[in-house]
Amino acid sequence: MKHATSIRLRRIGSLLLALLLTLSVSFAKATPARADDRQQELQQAKEEAQNKLNEINAGIKAAQANQAAAAELKQQYAQQEAVIKSQITILYEQITAIKEQISNKETEIQEKQQQIEQKQAEYDERFAGFQERMRAMQRLDNGGAVALLSQATSLYQLLTFSSTLEQISTKDTQMCEELENQRIELNQQKEALETAKAELEEAQNELENQNSQLESKRGELVASMQAQNEKISAAEAEEAALEVEAAEARKQLDAAAAALDAYLNEQVRKYGDAAIKCSLNFGPALSTYKYISCVFGAGGHRGTDFAAPANTPIYAVADGIVTTAANHWSYGNYVQIYHGKDDDGNTYSTLYAHMIQWPSVSSGQPVTKGTIIGYVGSTGNSTGNHLHLEMKINGVLTNAANYIPH
Ligand SMILES: [Zn+2]
Repeated sequence: MKHATSIRLRRIGSLLLALLLTLSVSFAKATPARADDRQQELQQAKEEAQNKLNEINAGIKAAQANQAAAAELKQQYAQQEAVIKSQITILYEQITAIKEQISNKETEIQEKQQQIEQKQAEYDERFAGFQERMRAMQRLDNGGAVALLSQATSLYQLLTFSSTLEQISTKDTQMCEELENQRIELNQQKEALETAKAELEEAQNELENQNSQLESKRGELVASMQAQNEKISAAEAEEAALEVEAAEARKQLDAAAAALDAYLNEQVRKYGDAAIKCSLNFGPALSTYKYISCVFGAGGHRGTDFAAPANTPIYAVADGIVTTAANHWSYGNYVQIYHGKDDDGNTYSTLYAHMIQWPSVSSGQPVTKGTIIGYVGSTGNSTGNHLHLEMKINGVLTNAANYIPH
């Protein structure tokens, strides 16, 4: 306390004040300890219900995230599968084309084989004739020649006969050579065809390999998609189950909140009806402060501003009941306390604004003079750490500095 200011009263003389101070007793702690326990118990039950609901809601969010992640993965797999499917289609077309080429090659090879066999037959036939004539010539050489030669009537006839035999032999030889060459050429063509066919078959094998690899990759993707489907189903089932739990938790929270509200209303009613007697023996709201930064009434100022460091404890200036402990766009975190009536029936209430954090007390809570109700801050419409203190007498704003020691 900076100054030991005497309490001034507007309408009551100092003599009367002295009498009043002597006679009046600070109102008793009307609420039994049991009631505080009950309030705490109800608040705790409500907090627990809220925590449980929060936990379930977090579970629902997680399940939804799982579903989304699985759906995303599934979509990626589906896209990959579609690409592979089109690759398989292309490969299938290539394989079909190659199979047709192979089939054509086989037909050509068969035709070539027939030509070779035909050539071989011609050669064999020609060679057989040649052999026959050679044997005839041999017979001429082996004794038969003398008889034949002796039949020749002239040397010219003899030479002609010999020359003819030689010509026949040469022609046969040429023909055989020609046939053999043709047959060799056909064989070479056939070999070329077979090589080409083998190459085609190799290409086909290659394509079939690629195809089977793609098919197996596709199978994996289909299995992966199925796994994601199962994950999605599981997450959906989990979410559905949690939704049921959440509905139950909401009911419990509503019930707990209703029980607390009912209790607080009952307390407020009790205090409102009870003849709270205000001693007017106010205590300081702050044990220390720097200076009054704004006085009551200045520019329509509703209260008195006490500049003080952040976190300076704020005290209830008199016994009473907390009627509001809340956050307001202008007051910030604030508390209002109803202090009851003085002997003349005037009612008193005080308001403490811009607390650094949520008030330390709650609505409906009975407080005694000096109870810490919060800490100095600068929340709401405020430019620096200070306590904005308001006082109402009979509901009318009054200069608190005239009543509260500071
Ligand atoms: Zn102010």
